[in-house]
Amino acid sequence: MRAMSKGNKKSAPRRSRRGWLLFTLFPLIALSFFWGWIAWLGRESGPPSRCYGGVVGGRLEGGRRLPLWGENFSSYSVLGYLFGRTFMHRTVRDAILAAYADLSETHPGLRFVYAESGWPWGGPFAPHRSHMNGTSVDFHVPVRTRDGAVAVLPTSIFNKFGYSIDFDRSGQWNGYQIDFEAMALHLLALERAARANGISIRRVIFDVELQPKLFATEAGAQLPKLVSFNRRQSWVRHDEHYHVDFDVPCRGEKPPRSVSR
Ligand SMILES: [Zn+2]
Repeated sequence: MRAMSKGNKKSAPRRSRRGWLLFTLFPLIALSFFWGWIAWLGRESGPPSRCYGGVVGGRLEGGRRLPLWGENFSSYSVLGYLFGRTFMHRTVRDAILAAYADLSETHPGLRFVYAESGWPWGGPFAPHRSHMNGTSVDFHVPVRTRDGAVAVLPTSIFNKFGYSIDFDRSGQWNGYQIDFEAMALHLLALERAARANGISIRRVIFDVELQPKLFATEAGAQLPKLVSFNRRQSWVRHDEHYHVDFDVPCRGEKPPRSVSR
């Protein structure tokens, strides 16, 4: 009896250590496999991108994603990227990359952040109401600090990766000022790059109260002639990000509905 209880005393901590190790390692291994699978889905050698239906109710095949970061841009969240929330139609991805490349030459000091776009397979993408066929992409507004230095919005799980930030009517929040000129330059570059890639911008959703400030900039003055903007406020205020719907021919597409985020 004594010998048995001695053995139990020795093996119990070992077993619990092994159990703890499995408890912590299993989720990490499962996550690594999931992230690897997501990366595999977006591989360049994968099937061509095909979109079906509209931004609401549609789906996507062969989605691609932007790199996590580049010379003048980055993703809104490493987690969002790893979990596959930044997939889009390949042509849209190529146009966005071309626009960033263009801006890195013409305005190398500016920094841009792209946000959510969709799942690799498209379809419902909560909490967004659209973003279902790989042709919708959100971008964080470019910002500067009070002293005019180029900055990016701080994002974390606590501010819903930037989506819960609220700018005031003058475009300021917590020491950050929306760089309307940089935003206009980005939209102009996107418009040019979309056309160069055989697509176009269908519409841009941005807070209607902040739009006049965008159009008042030197670059922004050209925007209303080139790009269609929402005239009415969307179901959520688009002040910390702007939503861009690209016009890509999709199979079985119905006319777009007015919901967007
Ligand atoms: Zn959106």
